Amino acid sequence: MNEHDSEKVAGVLLARGYKQVERLDAADVVLYNTCSIREKAAQKVFSRLGELRPADWTRPGSVRIQPDREVISQGLEPHEAAAGRLKDRPIIGVLGCLAQQEGEGIFERAPWVSLVCGSASYRKLPQLIEELETGKRRVTGLETETDETFETEITRRDNPWRAYLTIIEGCDKACSYCVVPFTRGPERSRSSASVLQEVRQLADAGYTEVQLLGQTVNSYADPSGRKMRFSDLLLAVAEVPGIRRVRFTTSHPRDFGNDIVQAIEAVPAICEHVHLPVQSGSTAVLKAMARTYTRSEYLEKIAMMRAAKREISITTDIIVGFPGETEKDFEETLSLLDAAQYDGAFSFKYSPRPNTPSLKMQDVIPEEEKSRRLAILIERQREIQRARNEKLVGKGFEVLVEGKSRRENQWSGHTSSNRVVNFTSQREESLGDYVQVKVTGATPNSLIAISERHRDFSLRTE
Ligand code: SAM
Ligand code: SF4
Repeated sequence: MNEHDSEKVAGVLLARGYKQVERLDAADVVLYNTCSIREKAAQKVFSRLGELRPADWTRPGSVRIQPDREVISQGLEPHEAAAGRLKDRPIIGVLGCLAQQEGEGIFERAPWVSLVCGSASYRKLPQLIEELETGKRRVTGLETETDETFETEITRRDNPWRAYLTIIEGCDKACSYCVVPFTRGPERSRSSASVLQEVRQLADAGYTEVQLLGQTVNSYADPSGRKMRFSDLLLAVAEVPGIRRVRFTTSHPRDFGNDIVQAIEAVPAICEHVHLPVQSGSTAVLKAMARTYTRSEYLEKIAMMRAAKREISITTDIIVGFPGETEKDFEETLSLLDAAQYDGAFSFKYSPRPNTPSLKMQDVIPEEEKSRRLAILIERQREIQRARNEKLVGKGFEVLVEGKSRRENQWSGHTSSNRVVNFTSQREESLGDYVQVKVTGATPNSLIAISERHRDFSLRTE
């Protein structure tokens, strides 16, 4: 979602006549999009801002020195990292969740920054940039109370085949560990007409795959009179001529109903992949996390998907070391991995975040213990993926060709189930084409295959 926000922000600048440059030292404006979901991501931002400090930054009088923070020094000697790397005084802006979280505090820690704007205020960006262009020294966009979404005429997309498309912004859930409701504001859905219009434009521009985005994408609630449910929208997007694949992420288990599974069953263009974060396999921990479902309710959703006529690939997110997570709770997460049989999992050590209820919870798990649990979890999931992928040897898949390897005759792409496939083809494949491949080998994170157009195809797949 952050990547797509950056694409839309670039669109705002392009519409104002700016051009994208390859190198930092050629830029008049540097906008830095940030994440604050975990502490590590937030720390990176300040070290990066230190690197962006103009070499001749000498404003000792105006800088509030904070002895415990190293970003701001007396500012008298040239900063090595920035020296020679920046154009003379570019506009430097900080966007995204850390901007929202730290607000004007960013100006204190990095006074060379002139714009601070959270994602809920991006619709104000053209106006903020105009204020900077007309001489204002500092501008902010920090409101989160809004029912507007960020739409822009031009979006500069980085991937030539897969286009991201936000359909719902913000989040109204209140998971006790999560900063998103604070940094991205309340839930706002785009009208179905506006989403469908953008999909038609994308298809006309040659995109064949679209990915609908939202923190809780399946909580989509059409604000227009058409009142489309999320599953209706999926079906309508899949009907747009030229669209061959429709993906969506991230789904929240509470709002995940059988109508979504039925849509996947009915329409091949809707991808057979659901990302359904569980976070923990223990009902007690899920309760403390305020996830609004129990272990068995979650497993019912998995059973519903496993009963579908198409084989649906399921992936998840997991947090280990949440405050109060006992060894038994952790064991329950491991046994949930066995029961759910995920095709992929993003796993994280719990990271305490500002403003969140879990910050004040007791029984904090020591860092080493979190690391131990994370390593066990990753290993268990790796073995599950290896076994699942090995069962696919001999099967055929359609792959969107997305990359050419440096090695001769080697290509890569994704299946509808979002598996990465590295395949051999003697033909000069065209990037963006869809080809049939047969799986000849498997690793935990990818499939090895051979294209049907390869001359050894029948030999290698017997
Ligand atoms: N909205 C999505 C959801 O509800 O699943 C994803 C939100 S978040 C951007 C992506 C993942 O980061 C979450 O699913 C969760 O596993 C992880 N995460 C969020 N807050 C965290 C925290 N404080 N510590 C560790 N991981 C966290
Ligand atoms: Fe964060 Fe929970 Fe909202 Fe996901 S559903 S963004 S984890 S509060």
